[in-house]
Amino acid sequence: MSRPSIDQRFWRLDKPECEDDYSNVFINGLAEYTYGIPGIDCPRCGPWGGLRTLPVECPAKFRTDRRLANRWPLPVEEHARLCSELETALREETADLVLEPGDSFQPLVFDIPCKPTLDFYWCRFFEPVVARRVRDLFVKHSVTGISFHEVRLRRAGTLPAKSDPPIAETGEPEDIFDAIAIEPHPEKLGPFFETLVDGPLVDADRASLPTCEICGLEKHPEYEGEEWLIKMDEDRPNVMSLSAVRSTDVFRARSVGLVISERVHELVTANSLTNCLLTELELVP
Ligand SMILES: [Zn+2]
Repeated sequence: MSRPSIDQRFWRLDKPECEDDYSNVFINGLAEYTYGIPGIDCPRCGPWGGLRTLPVECPAKFRTDRRLANRWPLPVEEHARLCSELETALREETADLVLEPGDSFQPLVFDIPCKPTLDFYWCRFFEPVVARRVRDLFVKHSVTGISFHEVRLRRAGTLPAKSDPPIAETGEPEDIFDAIAIEPHPEKLGPFFETLVDGPLVDADRASLPTCEICGLEKHPEYEGEEWLIKMDEDRPNVMSLSAVRSTDVFRARSVGLVISERVHELVTANSLTNCLLTELELVP
C-alpha cells in the first residue's frame, strides 16, 4: 500500500438537499431490519446501539429469540452472553464476526414511496441503497472497500420522484404509504442493493478516540453516548486529515460521511448517476 499524499483527491458522496422530511422519505424510502443485536445498557454511558449492518443473515436458531426482534437494550453481562452465543452460531454457519450493540442482520427491508428509477436511495446514515446499474458499474470496475447485498423490496409507489409528495392524514412521513398508490408487483422493479463499506469508521480529524472499558463506546470529548452516534448527520466538515485516508476506493469517515476516491468520482459523474451529491474534501496534513 502506498502512502497517502496531499495531492490525492477525495469526495464525499452524499444525499442531495431535501425540502423537508416528506420529500426525503418520498425520494429516499425507509429501511427496516427484522433482526438485530439489542442495544447495551452501560452503567457508565447509558443505553446505546450503533448503526452497523452485518453482511450476514441472523442464525436460524435465533430467529425466535424476542431479544433480536425488539432489540431492547440489555445489561452488560447479558449482552456479552448473547453476543458470544451468536458469534459461535455465526462461526458454525457463515462468518467469523465480532458483534457490536445495535448491529443489524441482512436483509434490509426497503419501502420506497416514489417510483424507484433513481440510482441512489439515502434511507440509512452513510451507506445508500443502490439500483442494479450502480452495483454492476462498481463491480465491473473492481471498486474496492464496498460490498452489495440484495434488499427485500416490500413496497414501491407509482409516482415519479420529481412529483410533489402526497401527505398522509396523520401528517407523519412514516405514514406516506397510506396516501399513495402502490405498485402491485414490486418484485418486477428490482433488484436493489444495500451497500456496506468494509472498513471501520475512521475519524476525519484524529487517529482514534478513547473507548469505554465496560461497553466499548468511543468517547468523544464533546459528546456523550447517542448524541455522539448521531452527530455524524450534522454540520459535516469538508476537511479531512491525511491520516484518515484509506487505501480503498470507498471508506467512511466520522462526521464527514461516505468518502470516495477520484476513480469512483469519475464513474459517478461520467455515468450521470442520479440522486447523489458530490463535495470535494480538502485534505490537510
Ligand atoms: Zn460504557
